[in-house]
Amino acid sequence: MIAAVRPEFRADVLVFPAEDPVFGGGACRVGPCPRPARGHGLCQGHHLRWVGAGRPELDEFAATTDPRWRRQRPNMKCRVLGCGFGAARGGLCQLHHQRWDRAGSPDPDDWAAPWAALRPPAPGAACRIGHCQLWPQAALPFCHSHANTWKVNGRPDVEVFARRFDEITTTEEVTIRLGGLGPQLKLEIQYALQCRRDQPSTKTLPAVVMALVRLLAATDTVSLLDRDEHEWRTQIGRPAPRDGGPRCWFTPAARSATSPTLAAGRPSSTETSGRCAASGSPATSS
Ligand SMILES: [Zn+2]
Ligand SMILES: [Zn+2]
Ligand SMILES: [Zn+2]
Repeated sequence: MIAAVRPEFRADVLVFPAEDPVFGGGACRVGPCPRPARGHGLCQGHHLRWVGAGRPELDEFAATTDPRWRRQRPNMKCRVLGCGFGAARGGLCQLHHQRWDRAGSPDPDDWAAPWAALRPPAPGAACRIGHCQLWPQAALPFCHSHANTWKVNGRPDVEVFARRFDEITTTEEVTIRLGGLGPQLKLEIQYALQCRRDQPSTKTLPAVVMALVRLLAATDTVSLLDRDEHEWRTQIGRPAPRDGGPRCWFTPAARSATSPTLAAGRPSSTETSGRCAASGSPATSS
């Protein structure tokens, strides 16, 4: 029975790239941004930025805005030429700001900073955050801003903290989590997902599947075969979820569970070599 589900679907957590033809909602329209699109074809972060900018013309916004996430954009450098410390106050690093202060706060453009007196760190030393080129702050492994963020976060392990900045964190909208389901039910859902992959007639967005998974997890269901199709349609998820998506997806999922390949208790000799049952096709196409 387990053999009917291919290894790539046999996991508690399934993550699909935004551009997946069946399970992806499309990628953000901001150039190389890898995050899945939501409103107006923009990922959550870029959508926020677009709204914050007063909802400018979308194509132009997508073409001109910084594709990086905010936390991957470089911190500002001290404005004194040749200084690699991060800006702390008024565009100056802490040391240059102190000197500028002692010099009587002259016009920064006219102020010739006593650069030679400022000792740079060891050659090649840089903030430990992968993309950050700034000099580390005193004895700390991070530049001014990243050191502040690190302190605010309770000074966690340096390596762990640094890694968090470079990870492309998977967001919930591309993730299906099946850990809350019993073994039989989990297998049936995994198999239904696999059938969707093999018969890609409609999109199946992870959010819709998750709505169904949550409905199932709230019941004492052991298998989709516990009830017949009519019972599922009329009994599950009362009051009915506002969004009909989970229901639409549920029928083909239940049907694929009756496939000879997966049916509970069937001896494995009846396997149809992993093919999805014909009844497993989506309700929308029948
Ligand atoms: Zn984006
Ligand atoms: Zn400086
Ligand atoms: Zn840094």
